[in-house]
Amino acid sequence: MKPVLIVHGGAWKIAEDTHEAHIHGTRLACEAGWAMLSKGGTALDAVEKAVSIMEDNPTFDAGVGSVLNRAGEIEMDAIIMDGARLELGAVAAVRGITNPVRLARLILRDTDHSLLVGDGARRFAEIKGMRLCAEAELTVQREIDRFRQLQQTPNYTLADGFAPSPQGTVGAVAIDEQGHIAAATSTGGASYKLPGRVGDSPLVGSGAYADDQTGGASATGHGESIMKIVLSKLATDAIGHGFSAQEAADCAIRTLYERTGGYGGLIMVDHRGETAFAYNTPHMAVAWVDADYKVQARIKSGN
Ligand code: ASP
Repeated sequence: MKPVLIVHGGAWKIAEDTHEAHIHGTRLACEAGWAMLSKGGTALDAVEKAVSIMEDNPTFDAGVGSVLNRAGEIEMDAIIMDGARLELGAVAAVRGITNPVRLARLILRDTDHSLLVGDGARRFAEIKGMRLCAEAELTVQREIDRFRQLQQTPNYTLADGFAPSPQGTVGAVAIDEQGHIAAATSTGGASYKLPGRVGDSPLVGSGAYADDQTGGASATGHGESIMKIVLSKLATDAIGHGFSAQEAADCAIRTLYERTGGYGGLIMVDHRGETAFAYNTPHMAVAWVDADYKVQARIKSGN
């Protein structure tokens, strides 16, 4: 099987002056994942690597650079799924670690659990020897400024928060030489969310899904809309019903809007190794490995 990888760095109205940073950040992540995959590495390792690199990059709303909640704190969500065994690891509302996707992977690898939340997730990170960090290490000035601005905004709703601002949830989907598919997603969630709010990202089938028999998907966008239609599972099921990866991604995003009025984006890899992405937002940041094994990175615009 020819291995393939696609990554995203969020879908929304990505501010002009951050386009270059998004293109560069998704490219670096895709190249790092591809370096593993192209040498026979597993899809799971490649998506974990790609996502963790974007978590370390303050450009994105994941790991360092995550948005602040209504209490001025960072609570992060992440998931990783193994399409060979339909196993997953996920964390929700976890604080004080740099790489939630690594913690999700440890849950997948070392436990018979699927999803750990909050303090329990952080305690598990400590047990596994992950480095705990102070919130200040994850916090960037851009998000402090945004938090202060939102504090002054009357009648602010979560959906409003997606409209003007760059929301850089990150994700990756890959298929490896063995034909195994994996998907991962990581996010700081929605700006100015209530403490304890969990979005679609760590919810299996919503923020990501992977099944070797159909395909894998990673989603971004308004979480409360995405979870209503279980977007990633909807898209991978469409492949099972005979759609191409592109048809499945287009159909899933159309359904997101038609059934919920929601906005977002989706990347996919199907069991034949076809990649696709679709979005109904002004922009989406994506990078992928093309037919000549070259990494392409773009801010797509046009909706
Ligand atoms: N889907 C994420 C959430 O609602 C945010 C995003 O993708 O921008 O938490």
